[in-house]
Amino acid sequence: MFEASHPFAFFDYFRTPYQVRPFPQGSGHAGAAAFVRTLTAARPGQAPRSLMWIGADARPAARGTAGQMGCYRLGNFTFFGHVAPDAVAQAMLPQPERWHRAESIRTADGRPATAVWRDTDGNVFLPFDPGELMRLFWSEGYREVGRSGVAAFCRAAALRGYYLARPALPRPVQLALRRLFSRVQGASGFPAWPIEDSLHDFYDWLFAVIANLAGGPVPFLGLWPDGRSWALVLTHDVETAAGYRDMDLLRAPERARGYRSSWNFVGARYPVSDETVRSLRDDGFEVGVHGLRHDGRDLAERFLDARLPAMWENASRWNAVGFRSPATHRGWELMRTLGFGYDSSYTDTDPYEPQPGGCCTYLPYFNGDMVELPITLPQDHTLFTILQHADAGLWLRKAGHIRDRGGMVLVLTHPDYARDQPLADAYVTLLDTFAGDGTAWRALPQEVAAWWRSRAASAIRATGDGWTIDGPAAASGRVCFAGSRSMAGQAG
Ligand SMILES: [Zn+2]
Repeated sequence: MFEASHPFAFFDYFRTPYQVRPFPQGSGHAGAAAFVRTLTAARPGQAPRSLMWIGADARPAARGTAGQMGCYRLGNFTFFGHVAPDAVAQAMLPQPERWHRAESIRTADGRPATAVWRDTDGNVFLPFDPGELMRLFWSEGYREVGRSGVAAFCRAAALRGYYLARPALPRPVQLALRRLFSRVQGASGFPAWPIEDSLHDFYDWLFAVIANLAGGPVPFLGLWPDGRSWALVLTHDVETAAGYRDMDLLRAPERARGYRSSWNFVGARYPVSDETVRSLRDDGFEVGVHGLRHDGRDLAERFLDARLPAMWENASRWNAVGFRSPATHRGWELMRTLGFGYDSSYTDTDPYEPQPGGCCTYLPYFNGDMVELPITLPQDHTLFTILQHADAGLWLRKAGHIRDRGGMVLVLTHPDYARDQPLADAYVTLLDTFAGDGTAWRALPQEVAAWWRSRAASAIRATGDGWTIDGPAAASGRVCFAGSRSMAGQAG
């Protein structure tokens, strides 16, 4: 059905079947056109149609002509990347007189910048690389775009100063300061909070473009196993000995409703008994690693080498495969070197954390060999202590939104704060709301990570009269179709 001149990150991610067939050398692609990548859709009985884009991997050679790294708007979403201006795009198009501007790409402040092009046969040209776009969201690389290095540095330095000073301040002063900070952080613009849909709106947009080229819906490997249409994952970070003592405040209501959850411990901050770990596992719960000391230095360059072996030792003693960074400190290159099976230190959007930002997705994704499972509901402390919400309203609204879009609701709550009654009540409301929802895959994070690996190791294959799945996801996966509506609930 599809053939591409180069690997196509978007299809790799959604497991849409295609063949890579490099074009033979000297086939007329010279000059700027050598940077163009092509995906061709075969159409039975009709001429094939192509999607073209500018490869980010060709960028170093094309620097200066192939566009400005920046923040742009297309349709209803924001994106970041190198985007080629019209003059460059025209130089890359075969037979430029046949092409017209089909959809305007605007700058962040609304001025027309360039366009998605279409020709008289229905071929489409993107003046950017979809793979680069996805990577800049997932890695939070967009945070380096469009702001001066100095401003970013000043802001980071101010936050660092505040967080280092925090332990010395009385708690009411800390909270007042954090509420003051929260107003500044909440106004940061992108990503939007509590919901940032841009990346998922881009997925829908690109599937629609490709379905239009191909003349029909595009198959992809369903996001969740066993016919479920979304995932609900419960996790806890145990901050202190008080939280360790109070685990049952969250564990009991989960057990009563048939939920299981993951518990991330700080191995060198309070004693974690083998008995507690065994009892959690006996209940079908999971244990993970939440740094070593939680003193702001666990991942710092000067301390990491000394502390990482102790974290691994705890992981081995606890049978843990997952990592949650203290205070969600994280770095794209750093996380994949920690040696855990999955990481859950990114949020989809959170301007209130010491390291604000967000990967803008409520789906898992790979960082090297490691699966990233983003936290996708606002944290309990942020919502109830800093922003002083009184009930589960915002949690339920966002969980419903992610469910409707077929995503993963990944919740982080702390037993340390569970004596706060509005918070505890809200958590029970959240559990009650989805306890009987048969569309939800209620899974442990290690199960989601294992599923995501199986999915990535599986492929969709055309049979005579339909599609089938080869690989470890063959039994529990399903083939879905995208392109006409949003991706959620498109059973095949
Ligand atoms: Zn923590």
